[in-house]
Amino acid sequence: MNSEFLSPVSVDEAVSLMGEGCAFFAGGTETEHLNSRVSASTFILISGIEGLDVIDASGDAVRIGSTVTFTKALKAPEVPEYFKAALRYCGSLQKRNMATIGGNVASWRCDSYLVPTLLAAGTQLEIADETGCREISLEEYGQNREAFKKALITAVIIPSEKTGVNVISKRYANTVESHAYLTIAMGKMNDSYRIGLAVKGSGIYTPDIKNWGVVWKMADVKDDMFGSEAYKRYITGVTLDDMYEKLGGEGGDQV
Ligand SMILES: Cc1cc2nc3c(=O)[nH]c(=O)nc-3n(C[C@H](O)[C@H](O)[C@H](O)COP(=O)(O)OP(=O)(O)OC[C@H]3O[C@@H](n4cnc5c(N)ncnc54)[C@H](O)[C@@H]3O)c2cc1C
Repeated sequence: MNSEFLSPVSVDEAVSLMGEGCAFFAGGTETEHLNSRVSASTFILISGIEGLDVIDASGDAVRIGSTVTFTKALKAPEVPEYFKAALRYCGSLQKRNMATIGGNVASWRCDSYLVPTLLAAGTQLEIADETGCREISLEEYGQNREAFKKALITAVIIPSEKTGVNVISKRYANTVESHAYLTIAMGKMNDSYRIGLAVKGSGIYTPDIKNWGVVWKMADVKDDMFGSEAYKRYITGVTLDDMYEKLGGEGGDQV
């Protein structure tokens, strides 16, 4: 399809251009790849909007502008190590140079590099749409994707290491360049735990630590070339047990 490209200079302009048949375009690594799920008659280029590529650490939070690339975030001293671990799940250096944080979140892929870690960290998103700008939790964004399909993500806000947050994650894939069949993250802050799971062919889950097994039992986990459903369920269970212990939990069986 031949698409039109528009280059707004501000967030307000970008939001006002958004309509039927339009999509935002940041690094273009998702929109432009072969068999991309994203199709639009009009792409709204957001990489030129001033201020969207700024990283700012003040107080207990780190605010990462949505057009910050993986490479830029990896080089920034103020970006917490737990988030850098997730950024490194993108093995291709070329892709890291183009792919943006906001584009990754908006793509909400079932093999997402970043979303499990961001969920486990208790991330807030800053978004702008025709009703104005506001903060929402990443969890809310994930639960109601339809409601936010025209929203521009302007920043992700994550807790800095100063808060004592501890997030660990693990990506299961055949090679660093292959798609992950499971990405699992668990975070602990002030004695409360959060889980983020991305399951290839299935989706993204953020079960509550106390009843994660209930959500997980209902998840549609596929038998595929990466392994059987039973294997993936087993791996997920033991990984969560291990993470819980590493984060200081009393014992794996309490997860
Ligand atoms: C070969 C290949 C393999 C890949 N493998 C993976 C993988 O394993 N895991 C993974 O997570 N990703 C993967 N990707 C996808 C991609 O590289 C990342 O998800 C990347 O972070 C997307 O960012 P982008 O800036 O390129 O997004 P774009 O391609 O510019 O946009 C992606 C989507 O997000 C929307 N969007 C972009 N920015 C915003 C914003 N600020 N607000 C609202 N909507 C926005 C766009 O409209 C579009 O729908 C792969 C890509 C390629 C080419």
